[in-house]
Amino acid sequence: MKRKSIWQIILSLVLTAVILCSCDPFFNIFSSGDEPEKEYDAKLTVHYLDVGQGDSIFIEFPNGEDMLIDASENYYGEGIIDYINEQGYNKIDYLIATHPHTDHIGSMAYIVRNIDVGSVYMPKVSTNTNQYKSLIKAIKKKGLTVKNGKAGVNVLSGDDHSADILAPKTIDESNLNNCSIVLKVVYGSTSFLFVGDAGTGEMNKINKSDLAADVLKAGHHGSKTSTTKKLLKKIKPEFTVISCGKDNDYGHPHEQVLTALENIGSRIYRTDEDKTIIIYSDGKEYTVKTGNKSIARAS
Ligand SMILES: [Zn+2]
Repeated sequence: MKRKSIWQIILSLVLTAVILCSCDPFFNIFSSGDEPEKEYDAKLTVHYLDVGQGDSIFIEFPNGEDMLIDASENYYGEGIIDYINEQGYNKIDYLIATHPHTDHIGSMAYIVRNIDVGSVYMPKVSTNTNQYKSLIKAIKKKGLTVKNGKAGVNVLSGDDHSADILAPKTIDESNLNNCSIVLKVVYGSTSFLFVGDAGTGEMNKINKSDLAADVLKAGHHGSKTSTTKKLLKKIKPEFTVISCGKDNDYGHPHEQVLTALENIGSRIYRTDEDKTIIIYSDGKEYTVKTGNKSIARAS
């Protein structure tokens, strides 16, 4: 048998390392349009919808319930409902309006009017925009009541999953972003943090242990006012999703935020680049699928 040269040994070591890295069971990405492989038993599915410069997140829970967090600007209502229907749902069990800015509640009146809704959670703060007034009108007309979305409220809990509101702890009417509902969803040993547009002032009031999460929806579309080095030290997200529009007027996501995330080794996904991002959890591991369809904008 021919003896291996030192270069052959180095090459085989490198190849082994590459194979081991690509088999990391914690993390898989499926390319655009591919169906995720059915080798895992996903029971919690989080869809970060591509809704331009805004937020809208659809969650499927292990017990068959569903949740919509925010509904972007007012031309996405039909597209969001179509998307929810395509996932096999004809009702939203939990509707969360993180705060009353139009890039979060713009389409919510349309949604309340056009699909069955269970519970509605909003922070106890109001504004005088037409979108907000229409939403309140639609909620009343449907006979729904708004539940106070404040720290300490348990939205749902099952054997192995839960959704709890961590903030707001106080209401600052002069800063709607800092009234955002901050929600933590846990399934098995996996955890997701949804922070709306909460800035550091609001986030710093939350206990460190509550903040810790594997998957972070970056606050305020990746603004430096929300995601700081100090805060990331507490959250320690393995994955971060940034919901923002292509070439938006605000320069979101901010460079400092991307650098801070890279420095802690968080994998970054952006709706402006990755379209709708779906993260599946089986209670232990995550599977990420990017390149899913964007939400259609009504003309
Ligand atoms: Zn926003």
